[in-house]
Amino acid sequence: MVGLEQNLSQVRDRIRTACSGAGRDVDDVTLVAVTKFFPASDVEHLAGLGVRVVGESRDQEAGAKLAELAPEVRSALTVHFVGQVQTNKANHVARYADVVQSVDRAKLARALDRGAAQALEAGERHTPLAVTIQVELGEGADRGRGGALPEEVPALAEVVADAEHLDLRGLMAVAPLGLDEAGTAAAFDRLMALSATMRSDHPDAMWVSAGMSGDLELAIRAGATHLRVGTAILGSRASHR
Ligand SMILES: *Cc1c(COP(=O)(O)O)cnc(C)c1O
Repeated sequence: MVGLEQNLSQVRDRIRTACSGAGRDVDDVTLVAVTKFFPASDVEHLAGLGVRVVGESRDQEAGAKLAELAPEVRSALTVHFVGQVQTNKANHVARYADVVQSVDRAKLARALDRGAAQALEAGERHTPLAVTIQVELGEGADRGRGGALPEEVPALAEVVADAEHLDLRGLMAVAPLGLDEAGTAAAFDRLMALSATMRSDHPDAMWVSAGMSGDLELAIRAGATHLRVGTAILGSRASHR
């Protein structure tokens, strides 16, 4: 438990340092604590340390975990779904997620729109479902971390923007594996350029979710608005057991 507190404070220090180095306001960067593989008790502990935004990546795990939380903890949290969503799970995800960051295809966007409509109707949610489009930043053989291809983004953004119960917020990406610092920085720059293009059609879609435990400084320097940090806060899954 002490570990969690120390880790969180180190991550917050890293964010502060990177923001000041980049001349950015720390309040313009949202830390999403990715709690996948870790139990509800850790989420409650993080909430007690001031964490207000958590990320989950597997539907079954997330749904069960959130249901376990004390109601006052649950209601104070914003939940971002950051993992791949199977179309047949979209309905369920739309019941508990405030944000789905990993929308990568039109079929999923439409399924989430239907799910959000049902959840609104049932009183299970009260606002449209916020989404970001996940973009594949790998080139050639480096592809594979998921997401729509850059050239597919404009059409997918139109589908999301036209969906009545979805709210288009921006873009998300995972840096390609195996790149050095310069390569990762270049990938994040490509993401920022895609974001600028997207904002010319969708000015409110300002979020750029990039940066994880290993590369959050590079993401802040590039201009990311959301960081998704798991291991640096919660430890690796193996060491937790
Ligand atoms: C697990 C996960 C993260 C967190 O990654 P860490 O390297 O553990 O910080 C971020 N984004 C996505 C999509 C994830 O699945």
